Amino acid sequence: MAFVRKYLLTSCFTLALLAACSNEPVAEPSSAAEISQFTRPGFASVNSWLIETGDRVVLIDAQRVMSAGKEVVTAIRQTGKPLEGIILTHPHPDHFGGLAAIVEAFPEAAVYASAETTEVMKTDSNGYQAATREAVPNDSPEMFAVPTKVFNDGDILQFGSLELVVDEIGQGESETMTMLYAPKENALFVSDLVANKMTGFLLEGRSGAWLDQLERVLASYNDSEPTIFPGHGAKGSFDALLSGQKAWLEDIRRLVADKLQDDILSDAEVSEIENELDALYPDYPIVAEIPPLASLNIRAVAAELGEEKNRSSR
Ligand SMILES: [Zn+2]
Repeated sequence: MAFVRKYLLTSCFTLALLAACSNEPVAEPSSAAEISQFTRPGFASVNSWLIETGDRVVLIDAQRVMSAGKEVVTAIRQTGKPLEGIILTHPHPDHFGGLAAIVEAFPEAAVYASAETTEVMKTDSNGYQAATREAVPNDSPEMFAVPTKVFNDGDILQFGSLELVVDEIGQGESETMTMLYAPKENALFVSDLVANKMTGFLLEGRSGAWLDQLERVLASYNDSEPTIFPGHGAKGSFDALLSGQKAWLEDIRRLVADKLQDDILSDAEVSEIENELDALYPDYPIVAEIPPLASLNIRAVAAELGEEKNRSSR
């Protein structure tokens, strides 16, 4: 009898832990992570996304300069939680110029990136680190910090209850780019696939590849319509942000193509296109610390369209 009672007590105790002695299925304790934006307002602002899970913080992208990196450190410290990982989305230094300050403050945090991004960062093969050092010598790190962990397309990065799915989207705004999808939060960190209501960076001459990326992402996430967390500008809805970026790229290509009949854009034509873009997209701040970015974009698109024409006539 004592044995039966003990058995009943212990089995009920065990069951109570599982389901309060009922047959109800037990829901996994799951709370969505909290996502907040860090950006330095003003000229050429760029986003870092702080993701707070139960007991830790994960950071996506690491600001343009050391002083902004230190502000991110302060924001992380205010959560009272340790920083477990930093994920870099692509090898443009406006997204990692502040990394050295963050790594110095949280040396235990791993730095994640794709093999392609890691390679460009280690070799400065696009020359952007040298250019950044020259542009902001007093706010650049002595040595740009580099990733310590490489991920691959389709990998799932797990930080406590936070899951981030790696989605490599290849060339576009940058020579390589990683998006991260958080299924539980239905959040898509799209990096510079989107500059929300800002003048994007087209100097690498891939507006066409960028549009192709947008089409692919629009199709592949169409069912879940995640909230979009861009590299520049505010977060927003799937449709508004991806379609908005697509329209901006299509408009700049159309306006340039209209004036490119003789294969050369005059200075007057460049400023006409700039005015036409301004009328369509008033007060769009630039994403890079390159004041004539708007006119340089137009010339880059002209060169790209010229090449596209040559390729198709060959
Ligand atoms: Zn950027």
